Amino acid sequence: MNKNTAEVVIIGGGIIGCATAYYLAKAGVTDVVVVERNYLSSGSTGRCGAGVRQQWGLKMNCLLAKESIRAFETLNEELDTGFDIEFKQKGYLMLAYNEKMVEQYKKNVALQQSLDIPVKLITPDEAKEIVPHLNTDGLLAATFCPTDGHINPFTATISYAEAAKRLGVRVMTYTEVTGIEVENNKVVAVNTSNGKIHTNKVFNASGGYSREVGAMAGVELPTHPERHQILVTEPVARLQDPMVISLQHGFYCQQTPHGSFVMGFGDPNELKEHVVTSSWNFMEEMAEKVLPVLPPLAELRVVRQWAGLYNMSPDAQPILGEMPNLQGFFNAVGFSGHGFMLAPVTGMLMAELMSGQEPHLDIKPLSIERFEKGELLREPSVV
Ligand SMILES: Cc1cc2nc3c(=O)[nH]c(=O)nc-3n(C[C@H](O)[C@H](O)[C@H](O)COP(=O)(O)OP(=O)(O)OC[C@H]3O[C@@H](n4cnc5c(N)ncnc54)[C@H](O)[C@@H]3O)c2cc1C
Repeated sequence: MNKNTAEVVIIGGGIIGCATAYYLAKAGVTDVVVVERNYLSSGSTGRCGAGVRQQWGLKMNCLLAKESIRAFETLNEELDTGFDIEFKQKGYLMLAYNEKMVEQYKKNVALQQSLDIPVKLITPDEAKEIVPHLNTDGLLAATFCPTDGHINPFTATISYAEAAKRLGVRVMTYTEVTGIEVENNKVVAVNTSNGKIHTNKVFNASGGYSREVGAMAGVELPTHPERHQILVTEPVARLQDPMVISLQHGFYCQQTPHGSFVMGFGDPNELKEHVVTSSWNFMEEMAEKVLPVLPPLAELRVVRQWAGLYNMSPDAQPILGEMPNLQGFFNAVGFSGHGFMLAPVTGMLMAELMSGQEPHLDIKPLSIERFEKGELLREPSVV
């Protein structure tokens, strides 16, 4: 544990850092240290909705999500740590309230079906059969994919970390990265609150702090944090199987395996800072959005509300890859609201890159150079 060198230093013990540590070790790169300044999953991962869906409007997102879901399906067996990631594939129901959205959903469904994602465009009555308490007033159509679902973000992260440790990865919690040393445009060391680690490969998986970690290496990342709020209710008898999303209202809402409802919404006026306190008005605004669509939830008592950070890039899509002018500095950052669900495939791809292999999917469109080239990726289905 006191060894002061490593082949790869991973900054951040969220789902991205821990998944990548595991896939690196699985590929034989076991001289890896995960450095986390708090406890594992203390960042956005432990604060997220942990929904996983393949219903995207960009082919890249569909492919990444589909492969991740396939990995999540067998992750308990693969990692074999005794933790249950609680993957419940009860589907995602996505609601459309105007013609423009219906047209977009038709395009999304055609794309998803062409990639063998089992999604369907359905009528309001069919949507009501899936979620009987859905108020269909104003609803024009919906899409449903039964293999989407929900996971426990804590057990998923700890499972990856434990499996990585079993293969030789070191995990340093309560250890802060304070600096990154660079010589001749190459990474040479990482300074932490528990000493220096000499390394030629650093992986920035620091979520909402990606920009600050990049700056430590002299790199300017076009990312920023954005607060997103979420709440959980008391547990009640099973009422709703799928995650319900309305892009029109901007909310998502699902019932966990334990019976509580978890819901949140995207507020464009949210704070663009490292603030994770929850606001007074959040619960009221949440109720205004969700209750017209799912009226019986008005009876539920709210147990807790909290906030976490989306790490935003200019197009709300992740930035994956090695920095062009800094050898050995790798990023998987800027995931906005869909980094949890993309973690398995991100981990595999980053492990391939860092171990010198060609990534099995073409991730060049997600490189940082896209911003300079003006080749932004516009995903129409973000919350
Ligand atoms: C309210 C909310 C709901 C969401 N819902 C979903 C959802 O339903 N589905 C989905 O796929 N995604 C969702 N997301 C997004 C998802 O949470 C993130 O994209 C994902 O968790 C990012 O994982 P990560 O490992 O990159 O970051 P994090 O989990 O934030 O991990 C980064 C870690 O780096 C550590 N760190 C930072 N700086 C340093 C340093 N200097 N030294 C050491 N450690 C450091 C932090 O402590 C942190 O633990 C949601 C996010 C929020 C906030």
